[in-house]
Amino acid sequence: MKLEPIIGLEIHVQLKTKSKMFCGCANVADGAAPPNSVICPICTGQPGALPSPNAAAIEMGVKASLALGCKITPLSKFDRKHYFYPDLPKGYQISQYDQPVGVKGAVPVTVAGVKKTIRITRLHLEEDAAKLWHDPAGHTLVDFNRAGTPLAEIVTEPDFESAAEAKAFLTELRLIMRTIGVSDAEMEKGQLRCDANISLRPVGEKNLHAKTEIKNLNSFRSVERALEYEMKRQTKLWEEGLPPTQTSTRGWDDVAMKTVDQRRKEEAHDYRYFPEPDIPPMNLKTLEKKIKPMMPELPEQKRQRFVDEYSFSLADAKILTADSALADFTEHVFSELIEWLRSLEEVEGSVEDQKKRYNTRLAQIVGSWITTRLLGTLEERKGNIRTMKITPENFAELIALVYERKVNQQSAMIILETMLEAGKDPTQIMEDKGLGAVTDDALIDRAVQNVLKAFKPQVEQYKNGKKEVFQFLVGMVMKETEGKADVTLVREKLEGALG
Ligand SMILES: [Zn+2]
Repeated sequence: MKLEPIIGLEIHVQLKTKSKMFCGCANVADGAAPPNSVICPICTGQPGALPSPNAAAIEMGVKASLALGCKITPLSKFDRKHYFYPDLPKGYQISQYDQPVGVKGAVPVTVAGVKKTIRITRLHLEEDAAKLWHDPAGHTLVDFNRAGTPLAEIVTEPDFESAAEAKAFLTELRLIMRTIGVSDAEMEKGQLRCDANISLRPVGEKNLHAKTEIKNLNSFRSVERALEYEMKRQTKLWEEGLPPTQTSTRGWDDVAMKTVDQRRKEEAHDYRYFPEPDIPPMNLKTLEKKIKPMMPELPEQKRQRFVDEYSFSLADAKILTADSALADFTEHVFSELIEWLRSLEEVEGSVEDQKKRYNTRLAQIVGSWITTRLLGTLEERKGNIRTMKITPENFAELIALVYERKVNQQSAMIILETMLEAGKDPTQIMEDKGLGAVTDDALIDRAVQNVLKAFKPQVEQYKNGKKEVFQFLVGMVMKETEGKADVTLVREKLEGALG
């Protein structure tokens, strides 16, 4: 029997508002303030305290819903979700039940070159609960700093067919939340929390079987691993003729690398939702009209624009747009280079024609210099695009030097490293360090002759058909010129000399 997985996700995103969801307490990061120091009668659920909704959080909810392609509910309201637990002193959580901020969204994801759409069931706003601490002596302590901080809960349809798709979606969701500025969405910091639902069914069957909810997934890797583990575990149950018959909850153990059966904190599933009487319903149509024109370019649109406008490969576009600072840097470098190229020659035709003419070659050079060399060097040095000393103008100048063959690749790398250290302009560094490409014919001719004399056996091998020796000889000529010769010229001259 061939089985297929059906996976859906439930994600909580911490909104980065200044204050909490229903009171004026600061919304501080986990552990940033002493326990129970950022609290008030509202977020600790004192009798008679009145909640008043945070306008910024509601705006962020609308913004996030729009970014996920959701329809905005015209008249949205808050509801009380009842359950008893020590992290919730009111005995209910203020959440949203039948009129969430957004419904019926869609997010495109691409996995292994295949594009598909993940449907979003809903996005609603709610308050977070307090944090429980279990100390080694066996006591449980409560920190209310987190109580009442704003969350957006996002629920997807069961549209994922693999763990890789779930991971790709989460990566895209994180990028969307960062792009629209509602959350930093760091899973490791609890700013993005994910629960996954998974069930299996025989291929071809249409109905759904009892699902397992996996909790405690606090990294992209654990989402992927937990789903893969659960697929294996459930496949075995099916093969034994004992597929799950009722919904269950399991927790992911990152050390043991397996899911373990968990009892839910609320045994009964009746939350007795009812409308929150202290908060009037919200007219979101007006807010939607205000926010829509101010929506930033979304990741998917930006990626596509980098391909269409600059001719980057999709792979490069993905890397270059994965971080807004990097994307801005790239666009700035590109426009500098276009300006520079246009200034080099008599310009004919429109700006559009110019772009078409230059784009493909420029996109290749800019793409590889940023994604491989710049990002690679930054990673080695634990540097950061936001704080590095290289300006887009200087980086564009470096690429221009390479483009014009004024420096060879090897020297350009030395210049790049010096730029990262000292922030100087590349032409200056090239001159100071004498790194300019040697294009002096006589000098290169001499180096070629020296190499041919010094490596007679290799020259013999080359002439007898061992063509791969050529690369070795190029290397030796480069060494003769202390790595500074223009490689294209060296190749030409060596080919000539070898006949
Ligand atoms: Zn408070």
